[in-house]
Amino acid sequence: MLKDEDRIFTNLYGMGDRSLQGARARGHWDGTAGLIQNGRDWIIQQVKDSGLRGRGGAGFPTGLKWSFMPKESDGRPSYLVINADESEPATCKDREIMRHDPHTLIEGALIAGFAMGAHASYIYIRGEFIREREALQAAIDEAYEDGLLGDNAAGSGWDFDLFLTHGAGAYICGEETGLLESLEGKKGMPRMKPPFPAGAGLYGCPTTVNNVESIAVVPTILRRGAEWFAGFGRQNNSGTKLFALTGHVNTPCVFEEEMSLSVREMIEKHGGGVRGGWDNLKAIIPGGASCPILPKSELEDAIMDFDWMREHKSSFGTGCMIVMDQDTDVIKAVWRLSKFFRHESCGQCTPCREGTGWMMRIMDRLVRGEAEIEEIDMLFDISKKVEGHTICALGDAAAWPVQGLIRHFRDEIEDRIRRHKTGRGITVMAAQ
Ligand code: SF4
Repeated sequence: MLKDEDRIFTNLYGMGDRSLQGARARGHWDGTAGLIQNGRDWIIQQVKDSGLRGRGGAGFPTGLKWSFMPKESDGRPSYLVINADESEPATCKDREIMRHDPHTLIEGALIAGFAMGAHASYIYIRGEFIREREALQAAIDEAYEDGLLGDNAAGSGWDFDLFLTHGAGAYICGEETGLLESLEGKKGMPRMKPPFPAGAGLYGCPTTVNNVESIAVVPTILRRGAEWFAGFGRQNNSGTKLFALTGHVNTPCVFEEEMSLSVREMIEKHGGGVRGGWDNLKAIIPGGASCPILPKSELEDAIMDFDWMREHKSSFGTGCMIVMDQDTDVIKAVWRLSKFFRHESCGQCTPCREGTGWMMRIMDRLVRGEAEIEEIDMLFDISKKVEGHTICALGDAAAWPVQGLIRHFRDEIEDRIRRHKTGRGITVMAAQ
């Protein structure tokens, strides 16, 4: 279990003072100018050596991403954009940073902005996050008043402005290029890549888009050293991380832990156990709604990190887990996710626009058992036609829950279809 002295987010639950004074008392904004004066290359190397991988779901190495930004300007400004559009169902960790420990993010933005040659940064916050926006804006105002932002930010010699932009509540604006479009005042429709944002991002200028947590952990990594951060978790999965538990656990929560903890430890130590005990566990969705479901049979020795989840045909995502007990109708749960992704598709590419609708309509019938057994394979086939054939990752996000369901709960789907044919299914559904 992570020791208290190794926690980065020491006001995660809002029990302490979130103001600048409180943040300083907890060690934030300590020697920020000195860190910056170590230079851009030093900062990027430290972040690379720490092994930090993006905390927004994709897990791309953060230091490497920063190194794609141009070292010399060709006349265009560079931008840091912080993705605070936390919209993936079950994911609610960045919210805690913004409302309770906002100075971790602001200090991180200054350091990261300097490291990528950006004098301006935009935080794009989810439309529904009203209180979080207020808390974050108050912290930004405090930072300006104290000289931590603006000209010669924090006495570092670097001019840096930070702007907070409020989204309108569309899931697709959490996709980095959809976010950039929205930030430019257009519809949040993802862009084709290449060009990648580091070449042509916001307003056609070099841009890096990072998740809130990825930025907020950087000052502490630099203060405590890359080795310290790299010492947590398995190789290639290092660091501490904010995890969340929701669903059928006794104590749903957000908490900071070492990477690569076991799924069982996560649920039992932090979530107070599965409702009805470990044996009552049916399945989990490991890291947000798009991650393929995993049944209990795979979870006895399961490890919560990027590599283990990928090796077991799921995904670590944001580390925010949905736990389902034996009472759960998993078909219905995945049907609900299909409905969500169909609703959130921006509609500009055919496999996603049409495919999410097809998948949802088949799921609609499977959930009632009003289908033929052969349609299960048809559904799987459609999901494969969507996956990897779309402009952005929403297509994959819609396909994976369906694939996970068929991979692990095919018997349950077939059983429901048979029950419906024999009339027994009506009783089952009525009871739910
Ligand atoms: Fe839009 Fe879906 Fe295509 Fe993404 S995959 S660009 S959400 S239609």
